[in-house]
Amino acid sequence: MNIKKIKSLLELNPESQTCIIQGWVRTFRANRFIALNDGSTIENLQCVVDFEKIEETILKQITTGAALRLKGNIVESQGSGQKVELQVEELILVGACDPETYPIQPKKHSLEFLREKAHLRVRTATFSAIMRVRSALSFAVHQFFQNEGFVYVNTPIITGSDAEGAGEMFRVSTLDPKNPKLNENGDPDFKEDFFGKETNLTVSGQLEAESYALGLGEVYTFGPTFRAENSNTTRHLAEFWMIEPEMAFYDLNDNMDLAEKFITSVLKHVLETCEKDLEFLDERFNKEESSKPQQLRSELGLLEKIKFVVDNNFKRISYTEAIEILRNSKPNKKKKFQYPINEWGVDLQSEHERFLVEKHFKCPVILFDYPAKIKAFYMRQNDDGKTVRAMDILFPGIGEIVGGSQREERLDVLEKRIQEMNIDAEELWWYLDLRRFGSVPHSGFGLGFERLVQFTTGMGNIRDVIPFPRTPQNAAF
Ligand code: ATP
Ligand code: MN
Repeated sequence: MNIKKIKSLLELNPESQTCIIQGWVRTFRANRFIALNDGSTIENLQCVVDFEKIEETILKQITTGAALRLKGNIVESQGSGQKVELQVEELILVGACDPETYPIQPKKHSLEFLREKAHLRVRTATFSAIMRVRSALSFAVHQFFQNEGFVYVNTPIITGSDAEGAGEMFRVSTLDPKNPKLNENGDPDFKEDFFGKETNLTVSGQLEAESYALGLGEVYTFGPTFRAENSNTTRHLAEFWMIEPEMAFYDLNDNMDLAEKFITSVLKHVLETCEKDLEFLDERFNKEESSKPQQLRSELGLLEKIKFVVDNNFKRISYTEAIEILRNSKPNKKKKFQYPINEWGVDLQSEHERFLVEKHFKCPVILFDYPAKIKAFYMRQNDDGKTVRAMDILFPGIGEIVGGSQREERLDVLEKRIQEMNIDAEELWWYLDLRRFGSVPHSGFGLGFERLVQFTTGMGNIRDVIPFPRTPQNAAF
């Protein structure tokens, strides 16, 4: 039978045709007009019923949240507000919805309330729009890299290496937590564990991706990533999705060029394919912003922000230049920063990153050549003996969205650095092998997918751009 998605019906020129649609009631008014949504679009389809033809018991159950299957005629709408409507001939109540206990009523709910109803929140306009944009972004990520000739690789989720150095990890173990076998030191004996060694959930697929880039040339990963850092912020999840391209024969400039081209390309794709959802989110964003105090308000609307990023080059400056700007900045002189900038070498806090992006340059910024001391062991050392070829991309409202670098390809330099940082070189034997057998300059970066979704949808809290967020003290659902 001719089952149609509401999205495709609304794109039609109104010409009469019989079809079936299935979805959930958003509202039912005057015993006559059902606003039905099937998730295919932000828009509802107006469905007109003749209440005299519907059994009383069924009619009573057409309530917000109920699932219906409707057969009827699509015709030009009589009323204003929509181009077409469905004149219902057959109505089947697929699943009733108790109006007394259904939490998603047709009114404004707070995001906090909806987080507690994460299993039902996708039935709201806001969350369905976010999830369609998320899906389109995800498609665009694959499309971009596939078009550029990159190979998609899946790196392990359970990792035996603890040298990635990106923060706290979640242990993976089948040892009996109540009564683990102990070794001579009285610690749990991981030789007895499932893998015969300590294992964790991955914090990054980078090291493994490097191995594949040095054979496939250009690769990317796109998968779940885990960090047991206890950071209760609006930009951190314990489980998030990361995109990690890794490219042989790329230096840091090639890396920055790729990252910029990649981000603008996926944003362009959603501008083209998610028009209605973005319009809705833009309106929502503007409303939220207008309720904030003037000095905290975003100067641009959501769509304006996205277009601005697509149309303008990112500003590239070195860490050293950034420190100079920050040191001489008004908030630093007036002691407005929580962490004042006095000397070269300090790590930048998000207040500094946001100042550079939102106040000083007013555009995305790529910072490069960071002090070696605050960066990971695998980043390529510059000849100045102080800095490494790292780059971070900073976005308005988000802060860091990308972290990347040119990797150290020289075996002796890398070994020395591993030693200096007290990292177990034995664990990294295979990683060092890559520098022994056909080593080449190479680079890559990691982009946190949810931070990209946050930017694109204008959502302030990262918990609202992933279906079931995992954060400290919260693994509900
Ligand atoms: P931050 O300083 O914001 O914690 P990081 O320096 O730990 O980030 P990287 O280790 O460079 O980040 O990870 C690469 C990217 O992954 C980051 O640029 C960011 O977009 C994303 N990311 C990192 N940690 C998280 C997290 N806990 N939740 C969501 N995204 C994250
Ligand atoms: Mn972090």
